[in-house]
Amino acid sequence: MVPELVGKLRAAGYEVAVQAGAGTGALLSDAVYEAAGALVTEHPFDEADVVLSVQPLDGKCLAPLASGAATISFFPAAERPGDVALRRDRKLTTFGMEYVPRISRAQSMDALSSQALVAGYRGAVVAASMLGQFFPLSMTAAGTVPPAQVVVLGAGVAGLQAIATCRRLGAVVKGYDVRAAAAEEIRSMGAQAIELPLPTLEGTGGYAREMTEDRAQQQRELLASYVAAADALITTAAVPGRRAPLLVTTEMVLQMAPGSVVVDLAAEAGGNVEGVVAGKVVRVGAVQLWGGENVASQMPEPASRLYAQNVLNVIMLMTRDGRFVPDFDDEITATMCVTHAGKVLREH
Ligand code: NAD
Repeated sequence: MVPELVGKLRAAGYEVAVQAGAGTGALLSDAVYEAAGALVTEHPFDEADVVLSVQPLDGKCLAPLASGAATISFFPAAERPGDVALRRDRKLTTFGMEYVPRISRAQSMDALSSQALVAGYRGAVVAASMLGQFFPLSMTAAGTVPPAQVVVLGAGVAGLQAIATCRRLGAVVKGYDVRAAAAEEIRSMGAQAIELPLPTLEGTGGYAREMTEDRAQQQRELLASYVAAADALITTAAVPGRRAPLLVTTEMVLQMAPGSVVVDLAAEAGGNVEGVVAGKVVRVGAVQLWGGENVASQMPEPASRLYAQNVLNVIMLMTRDGRFVPDFDDEITATMCVTHAGKVLREH
C-alpha cells in the first residue's frame, strides 16, 4: 500500500497499520506512512481483519491472525498446498490477486496486467541500455547512424508495452504473437506485425494456447531470419499454468550480429530463449542474454503505486458501510477466493 492511498482506506472506514520498514524497498519511509494517517508498528497482524501484501504471508505473520481474517496478495495456490490446508484449517479467507478475472469490470484490479506493463517497459530500457548502439536514426554532420532493429516475441501486456517503449526510443520494431488479435495491436503501436503461415493459437480468457512440439519447431524455423536480423530481441511469451514456450534456440541466437542483446522476460517461467538464467546475464557467443527476475520490482515506484491501486480497488469492491464484507455471489470475489470459512474454494 502506498502512502497516498492510506487516506482512501481511512475514508472508507478502515484503520491502517503498516509494518515498520515495509516501504523501504520502494523508497517510502515510515514517516511518510505516519503522515498519511497509518499506524507504523512491528506487529501489524495482531488485530488485523484484512492483511494486504505482495507475496503470501509466511507462517510467522499468519500466526497472530484471528479466525475469519482475510489476506489479499499474490497467492500461487498450486505451489503451496500445505499453506492452503493451513489456511483452510485456520478458517482464514485468502484472496489471490492473480485470479482476478479478465472481464472489463475487473480491469482496475488486474495486478498481472499492471505488473506486466512495468516489466515490459523495464525490458525495453534494459535492451536499450545494454545495446551499444543508438535506438533512433541519427543524422549527423559526420554521417547517418541507422536505427536499431528490435524484435518482440509475445505481444500481450508486457510485449505491447515493450514495443511502445522501443518505438518511443526510435527503434524499428517487429512483433509476433500466436493470437490473431495481436497483429492489429502490434501495428497500432507503430510496429510491423510478423505474420507466419501457421494457424493462430487462441485459448480461453484472452490467453494463448500451448503449442505442439511440431508447431514450435516450425515457428522457430520461420522466426530464425527475423531473430538473426535483430539488434535487440525481447521475449515475453507465456501460457498460463505452463512452462514458457521455447521460441529461440542457442543456434538462432548465434546467428545474431556480435554485440546484439536478448532480453527474456519469461526467464522465471523457464524462459523463451534456450540457456537463459533468471537474474543473470549469460554470454552466447558475442550476444548478451539477460534473464528477467522479479522484473517489475526493478521499478519499485510505479510497480508499488499500480499494485496498491489494484488492491485498493479489490478492497472497495468488498467493502459495505465501512466494513469488509466480501460478497461471494460477486464473480470477481468468488474467482479470487482460495480459502474461506474452513473450505478450499479454488482447487489447482
Ligand atoms: P501472458 O502473459 O499469458 O502471455 C504473453 C503473450 O505471450 C500473450 O500475448 C500470448 O499470446 C503470447 N504467447 C504465448 N505463446 C506464444 C508463442 N508460442 N509465441 C508467441 N507468443 C506467444 O498474456 P497477457 O499479456 O497477460 O495477456 C494476454 C491477452 O489478454 C492480451 O490480449 C491482453 O490484452 C488481454 N488482457 C485482457 C484483459 C481484460 O480484458 N481485462 C486484461 C489483461 C489482458
